[in-house]
Amino acid sequence: MEKQSTAKATVIKNTGSHYLVSNLPDWNIICCTVRGKLRLNDIKTTNPVAVGDIVEYDIQEDGTGIIKKIFPRKNYIIRKSTNLSRQAHIIAANIDLALLVVTLDYPETPLAFIDRFLVTCEAYRVPVKIILNKSDLNSDISEKVNRFVSLYSSAGYTTIEVSCVTGQNIDLIKSECKGKVTLFSGVSGVGKSTLINTLDSSLHLKTREISEYHLQGKHTTTYYEIHPIISGGFVIDTPGIRGFGLLEINPEELSHYFPEMLKVLGNCRFAPCTHTHEPGCAVKEAVENGIIATERYASYLGMLEEEGKYR
Ligand code: GDP
Ligand code: ZN
Repeated sequence: MEKQSTAKATVIKNTGSHYLVSNLPDWNIICCTVRGKLRLNDIKTTNPVAVGDIVEYDIQEDGTGIIKKIFPRKNYIIRKSTNLSRQAHIIAANIDLALLVVTLDYPETPLAFIDRFLVTCEAYRVPVKIILNKSDLNSDISEKVNRFVSLYSSAGYTTIEVSCVTGQNIDLIKSECKGKVTLFSGVSGVGKSTLINTLDSSLHLKTREISEYHLQGKHTTTYYEIHPIISGGFVIDTPGIRGFGLLEINPEELSHYFPEMLKVLGNCRFAPCTHTHEPGCAVKEAVENGIIATERYASYLGMLEEEGKYR
């Protein structure tokens, strides 16, 4: 019998009918299909193969490939399902860094969105930093900016102020992305696509004026994609995300994904403690003493309540 050769590569794009793969960091694209059913035991998803997945494929005579195996994911980010089924859509897998792009004005990113994304990153062990974009527009709201930066630094997160207009800290973002697969996330309009295009002017990701956002179709299918950038590394844009989902996080566990709560919760009188009504709760005490920000605690309570609804 003829020996079939196999190869290993990373999925860089799902075209709808095919998967494009490349053996990163090489950029040498092979077109693959999936034969039969690929099963992963960990989660039920609407997409069995995600961008960032490392796969093994058989090389065909015509140069295309047939994916036959997905290697275990070191991490992944899922999109909140639109219905109450437990089906999730994996946005990307095996991410080295997530950059959460936010703006405080035009549009203002809700703290609830930010905290939910940060919790998702903690839960799936994705390193994350916050990019505060459009800093060129922030001179009138410098107090708000300072409060934001200190809110997240006290929670344990780095915020980098960036402007695609003045170029502030663009080189820093380039160096952050070197040698990594970096996921750019954030609500529509914060400038994710503009920022990626600024990192590499040969990329032409679609950007839109804020006034055009209402034209966005509700049910357009988005295919995420890995792009190489000229300064080194690979980036993934995530347009059209309304929320990130968490699977199977129980209420007693949620506080473990707030780094500033994780630091003190060992001192709660009861274990497990939901940090809501229990006497002798170290988290509530830290909130009262101003060590944990009330905004973050409010997000925590909001998420507890929301998760509770779905069980
Ligand atoms: P996305 O939905 O997050 O991908 O946002 P886009 O990249 O489409 O950008 C939305 C709008 O914000 C566009 O009009 C961009 O020109 C604008 N924008 C992006 N970055 C900046 C920035 O640093 N400063 C300013 N003033 N506007 C920006
Ligand atoms: Zn407690």
